[in-house]
Amino acid sequence: MIVVMRSGFAEDELSAVVAHIESVGLRASITRGAEQAIVGVIGVPITEQVQEALEAMPGVEKVLRVSKRYKLASRDFHPMPTVITVAPEHGAAVQIGGEAIVVMAGPCSVESEAGFLQAARQARAAGATLLRGGAFKPRTSPYEFRGLREEGLEILALARQETGLPIITEVMTPADVPLVARYADVLQIGARNSQNYLLLEAVGAAGKPVMLKRGMAMTAEEWLLAAEYVLASGCPDVMLCERGIRTFETATRNTLDLSMVPLIKKLSHLPVVIDPSHGTGKADLVPAMALAAVAAGADALIIEMHPNPDQALSDGAQSLDPATFADLMPRLDLVAQAVGRSIARAPIPSAAD
Ligand code: PEP
Ligand code: MN
Repeated sequence: MIVVMRSGFAEDELSAVVAHIESVGLRASITRGAEQAIVGVIGVPITEQVQEALEAMPGVEKVLRVSKRYKLASRDFHPMPTVITVAPEHGAAVQIGGEAIVVMAGPCSVESEAGFLQAARQARAAGATLLRGGAFKPRTSPYEFRGLREEGLEILALARQETGLPIITEVMTPADVPLVARYADVLQIGARNSQNYLLLEAVGAAGKPVMLKRGMAMTAEEWLLAAEYVLASGCPDVMLCERGIRTFETATRNTLDLSMVPLIKKLSHLPVVIDPSHGTGKADLVPAMALAAVAAGADALIIEMHPNPDQALSDGAQSLDPATFADLMPRLDLVAQAVGRSIARAPIPSAAD
């Protein structure tokens, strides 16, 4: 249920509405616009008696029932788009969900200190604003490279220190959340874990923004309900990443479902990220899908880039080489301009770089 406050409502009227909601054992989530406020009511049961009491309160314009199963994730609850501020504590905060589109780049896995620092410098020189790299890798085969774990997190932190760029990295189990959250600026939930509800609750309580990838066989509603777990655990800063779904097609690794960009933005206020790397599995298809994602209205891209894709320990076939990545950035600018947006840029590297 949503309580829409009348324009020009008084603060004590809003406080009274919240107090009433809490007094009947429900939770209130407030969203403010320029002159309006909307109070989302969460919990069960929301009876007709509660609805009627709220309708009669001073300052209340109307009370609407929300039939969707996800509440905090829905546009009805939160009409304004969410803008997530990443890493304010590092002084180079990046905003995701605003006018500027953020490009996150880096190798699939953190493989070595020298290799990752090289990739980080190349990503920054090309204009990326966030660094990606997996330290805990979910691999289909247990015999493949599964990441450097804490050593990988330390390398990520070193790269952040050197480049000034915040880092995004995956966390795979609830037990690892405190460790990964100590290093990461954004916690990534991978496609394979997107319905691991205990993990979703653990990252939701970790105090860091979360990027939730779409599972390989997840419907939009299931995806938004997964986001709801994170939101309901206390994290308001959730972004949704489309990374391709399983279809009958085998010429690509996955089928990148770009229709999710306008669909999710209609249903939800959460920023949408596109991963054209896992979405196609083929480096030569990545630039076109990255450009298309910007045209479709994505708020951010996450792109795999490796100094030597042929030697990558994971996902080399879909990783751009640094020159191709650098060449893509100004082309993204042009498409962004065409749709009334821009591509966020990292601060210009100093002469010491
Ligand atoms: C990754 O980002 O490297 C990754 C493992 O992604 P996904 O969970 O989408 O497969
Ligand atoms: Mn990968």
